[in-house]
Amino acid sequence: MEIAKLGEFGLIDRLTKDIAIKNASTVKGVGDDCAVLSYPDNQVLVTTDMLMEGVHFDLTYIDLKHLGYKSAMVNISDIFAMNGTPRQLTVSLAISKRFSVEDIEEFYSGLRLACDKWNVDVVGGDTTSSFTGMAISITCIGEAAKQDIVYRNGAKDTDLVCVSGDLGAAYMGLQLLEREKSVYYQQVEEARKKNDKRALEELSHFQPDFSGKEYLLQRQLQTEARGDIIQKLREAGIRPTAMMDISDGLSSELMHICKQSGVGCRIYEKNIPIDYQTAVMAEEMNMNVTTCAMNGGEDYELLFTVPIGDHEKIQQIDGVKLIGHITDAKFGQVLVTRDNQEFALKAQGWNPLS
Ligand SMILES: [Mg+2]
Repeated sequence: MEIAKLGEFGLIDRLTKDIAIKNASTVKGVGDDCAVLSYPDNQVLVTTDMLMEGVHFDLTYIDLKHLGYKSAMVNISDIFAMNGTPRQLTVSLAISKRFSVEDIEEFYSGLRLACDKWNVDVVGGDTTSSFTGMAISITCIGEAAKQDIVYRNGAKDTDLVCVSGDLGAAYMGLQLLEREKSVYYQQVEEARKKNDKRALEELSHFQPDFSGKEYLLQRQLQTEARGDIIQKLREAGIRPTAMMDISDGLSSELMHICKQSGVGCRIYEKNIPIDYQTAVMAEEMNMNVTTCAMNGGEDYELLFTVPIGDHEKIQQIDGVKLIGHITDAKFGQVLVTRDNQEFALKAQGWNPLS
């Protein structure tokens, strides 16, 4: 169905009609000029993120449901990265004529799946038209007690540096998708040149073979915020001294924490968690797997530091890996390789403005 048929209000009604409020802090959700929120005791965390078609996502490989899910999750991830609890979310979309009502419903179904997973209320949004691609703007609101909030600037000399999950897989997933896309377009181009109608017909049903690489795709297309790790840390009585989520790559995030905390760090290559499929794919593409893990973005794992006294507690937490420790600032930010060479960390994080 064309969006014009429903009109903006009709569309919003259709997208939000069965939203049930889950949080006591949501006094009023969708349906008035503003949402009304109430946090009488806690501090409020606010994060916002904008995603542009062609810059941040490519609809040739991500479908709208996954895109909705991912858009919500990356914002929810930022609330967890402050050791907070996500509560509300607003979503604004700019869409061109090529999107139907059903497309937008797909996007919303993914977005709401992510919100339901972490008990987040969708409390508002806006849809408007765009001449070209799609633009998504999401704001997530959360809460935390003042003393629980973990900033980037709290890391101290001798603290342990930890990461959750594994790194580099989302980046390798993107490499895989881009490789398949370019192979596909090359074949189409060749078939066109030869005017090979049969080849073109076959290519219209082209299905790339991703077997053995499912995890990489999942990590690229189905981003998960690590609220489970936050929960485990709380249960273990561990409060990180500094924390952030890894959206641009471990290397650049470590540098943010070191710079803001006024410390250095020593990270050991052998301790960096890398999945088997990531290693295989890096080899296939002639890339250094550690470089991929250090600089590949979009893992949305948590990077945090804990006092050295929490060493035993942290080792007992499943899915958390100790990768190094914090040092005095004068020692710099160092990566120690498997053969004991030392390199200064470089921020090669993904920079959309470059
Ligand atoms: Mg972040």
